[in-house]
Amino acid sequence: MEGPPTPAAAPSPSSRPQTAFMIGIVGAGITGLSLSIHLEERGIEHRVFEASSRPGGVIRSVRHEGRVLDFGPQRTRVTPPVGRLVKVLGLSDRTVSVPVDLPLYVLRGGRIRRVPFEPAGLVRTDLLSWRGKARLLLEPLTGGYDEEETVEGFLVRKFGREAYENLMGPLFGGLYGSDPGQMFVRHSLAETMEGFGVQRSILWGFLRGSFNRSAAPPAISFEDGMGELTSAMHRRVEGRVALEAPVEGIDRLEAGGWVLRHSGGDRLEVTDVVLTLPAEGASRLLGPVAPDAAARLDRLRYNRLAVVHLLGDCSLHGLGYQVAYGEPRRTRGVTWNASALGRDGIYTAFLGGARDPALLTLDDAEIGAIASGEFEDITGCSTRVLQVSRTRVPSWDRSWVAMEDLSLPAGIHLCSNYESRVGIPGRLARTEAMAEVLAASSGTR
Ligand SMILES: Cc1cc2nc3c(=O)[nH]c(=O)nc-3n(C[C@H](O)[C@H](O)[C@H](O)COP(=O)(O)OP(=O)(O)OC[C@H]3O[C@@H](n4cnc5c(N)ncnc54)[C@H](O)[C@@H]3O)c2cc1C
Repeated sequence: MEGPPTPAAAPSPSSRPQTAFMIGIVGAGITGLSLSIHLEERGIEHRVFEASSRPGGVIRSVRHEGRVLDFGPQRTRVTPPVGRLVKVLGLSDRTVSVPVDLPLYVLRGGRIRRVPFEPAGLVRTDLLSWRGKARLLLEPLTGGYDEEETVEGFLVRKFGREAYENLMGPLFGGLYGSDPGQMFVRHSLAETMEGFGVQRSILWGFLRGSFNRSAAPPAISFEDGMGELTSAMHRRVEGRVALEAPVEGIDRLEAGGWVLRHSGGDRLEVTDVVLTLPAEGASRLLGPVAPDAAARLDRLRYNRLAVVHLLGDCSLHGLGYQVAYGEPRRTRGVTWNASALGRDGIYTAFLGGARDPALLTLDDAEIGAIASGEFEDITGCSTRVLQVSRTRVPSWDRSWVAMEDLSLPAGIHLCSNYESRVGIPGRLARTEAMAEVLAASSGTR
């Protein structure tokens, strides 16, 4: 998403800073930490500034009454960059794997029903009527997406409304807590389809086994939750990371390069700045030096989610469920950490998001009561609410049009989950690529 430098901003080679090559990274979530590890491996000088007293950003795990609770991601796929990182950090024997064949469900008509991942399952599924199944067969006759098409428009055109509302909408929208009716295919689904190796027909890809979960990289967490990963990453580069050190401003150096102003009036001269913080904060920092980019970042919408940890007196077998559109429920989905990750009695419910923003106006007790009441109704388990928390995720909706012509001054880079993929595998792949760009650039200065 980095555009060409604006002419006024591009320093000539002779006006590079007099300081040695030095990178300033803003934010020590998984993106900032991963970039730091890559730069360390390449011997590139850098510092990471983190506003809070804790590294990891949205990745946060705690032990509550002896049980592990995750407030952000519950697990990650082990793509090659994730596998390398786990190995480098010596965490291989701390991983907890999600069994590949665990069923995933969708709640429809008041009952949870199994999601089909292979052709025989698609024939048998009770998530679709016979009419809905017959409609799927038309998909290979439909064309690819057009530039202005939303994910909802595209999926309904290809598979029919029933398959969209009962299956594809909740599963895809659930990844972002978003509304597929507000997401353009070109910003989101297009890349997902590419990841599955789907070219023209999604149905054909499905029949060929592109969605077969045993062929996908396995999913894992860690004994102490996902936070164990970011804690280990932080230990690896601890000397580079300043905690409780919010970056308060970025100034341009006359001689080229930048100054990061951080807490307490301290300053650091850097050749390059990498912004990994959320869009709103990045916009504030860029305002004085790149007003157009700042205004664009300001337009990006985030979805607000409530995360409710429930302790259930039952042993359900599966990954969890998403809720079909049109169901009279406010829960969007529940991850069954109990069976997915062997987390005794833990079920994590997600509520709110783009399709129900009003939920976030309720207080924690009300949100907890909704989550536990609905879960009990649906599964028959009795539950106790352990924790209610709130978080945000980039919505990747229509507001991402603002990113299309974003350009940054030379030496300032965005490396974030609103600029490239949201998931942990995507974050790690992006930082590897960014480290290469910075390494190449350090060699030329
Ligand atoms: C609820 C939820 C569920 C998810 N589920 C999954 C999943 O199952 N699998 C998966 O792969 N991914 C999942 N994701 C996505 C993934 O976890 C995130 O995209 C990723 O962790 C974001 O990391 P980051 O470092 O880019 O940003 P962040 O984690 O947001 O980190 C940014 C950091 O910048 C710091 N900061 C802010 N302002 C300043 C400042 N002025 N100066 C210095 N520092 C500052 C913040 O304190 C923060 O630590 C989920 C995300 C959420 C929220």
